[in-house]
Amino acid sequence: MVDLKGQYEGIKSEVNDAITEILESSAFINGPQVHAFQKELEDYLGVKHVIPCANGTDALQICMMGLGLQPGDEVITADFTFAATVEVIGLLNLTPVLVDVEPDTFNIDVAAIEKAITPKTKAIVPVHLFGQCANMDAIMALAEKHNLYVIEDNAQAIGATYTSSSGKKQKSGAIGHVASTSFFPSKNLGCYGDGGAIFTNDDELAHTIRGIVNHGMYTRYYHDVVGVNSRLDSIQAAVLRAKLPNLDTYNQKRWESAAKYSEALEGQEHIVVPKISCACGSIQNTCDCHVFHQYTLRILNGKRDGLVQHLNDNNVPCGVYYPVPLHKQKAYVDERYNEADFPVTNQLVKEVISLPMHTELDDEQINYITKLVIDFVNQ
Ligand SMILES: *Cc1c(COP(=O)(O)O)cnc(C)c1O
Repeated sequence: MVDLKGQYEGIKSEVNDAITEILESSAFINGPQVHAFQKELEDYLGVKHVIPCANGTDALQICMMGLGLQPGDEVITADFTFAATVEVIGLLNLTPVLVDVEPDTFNIDVAAIEKAITPKTKAIVPVHLFGQCANMDAIMALAEKHNLYVIEDNAQAIGATYTSSSGKKQKSGAIGHVASTSFFPSKNLGCYGDGGAIFTNDDELAHTIRGIVNHGMYTRYYHDVVGVNSRLDSIQAAVLRAKLPNLDTYNQKRWESAAKYSEALEGQEHIVVPKISCACGSIQNTCDCHVFHQYTLRILNGKRDGLVQHLNDNNVPCGVYYPVPLHKQKAYVDERYNEADFPVTNQLVKEVISLPMHTELDDEQINYITKLVIDFVNQ
């Protein structure tokens, strides 16, 4: 699904030198690399504050702690996503409220959010799924109307640009009140272990969060709030510093591979290619509004599971993200949910398949994969 070895070859000497330097200096935690990376990411994203932390799941949890969400507060998020979002809501004894997604972008459905808002609702967590921003104009308007926080889960979309209807362009993660991201190795900006970060333009919230990630300390050994221990280590920061200047190029390569996949697969009766929701043009043009963390098809004729098998039999990895709606996961089932409220997610889990997507895909691989898909689905 990914080719991290191939990508490493391109930055090998830089990464190796930086890691050697850290080994020599022994500044493994909170070394200068961490602070330098934080500044460089703030500049890249155009946000005032980046707070690095240990992983993307911690980042989500720390956002919710920083906003002061309290047990019983309702947090609305998508039913069709990775479980980390709903997991941290549960860990903090907040009440998750899962809602359906849009069939074409796979992102949270704004009408469903609106329907789910109650007097207890405190926050909305849009997940920019597979690399494309949720409908942030509508989500921010809804949040303002109901006085809610917006926490962007940007784990899959770092580097994506969102163009609002006013024409304003912002990086994903710079739009809501606060955002989280993950540097898990297979993410678009991945390190060589675990890592994550929180972004915000709010000075006060940034200050609160800087204490929370460090055991609730604002002055050394004075613990003002209950915090956590969540750090990005210097070696991971060094890897990320080597990769960040290449992020736009990496995302561009993903885009180009996605365009080639879609060119080959578009128009097939039983296949739906991913929709690009921005105004930047067709998939044949370059564009920074979708960074294709995953390239995900819908297979409409019931052959999805067979296709998974067929691709695997031909040594092509693929993935089903995600096979079970969150509201049906054992850990998160709740009698409040009504099946009739999740028609799209319930359908998508049977239809979606993600093809290999990374910075090292070549035309031969894409041709081989698309031919296998077309032949199998039509046979
Ligand atoms: C990967 C991911 C996370 C969690 O990140 P980790 O660094 O693995 O903890 C959270 N949300 C989404 C949408 C993700 O894809």
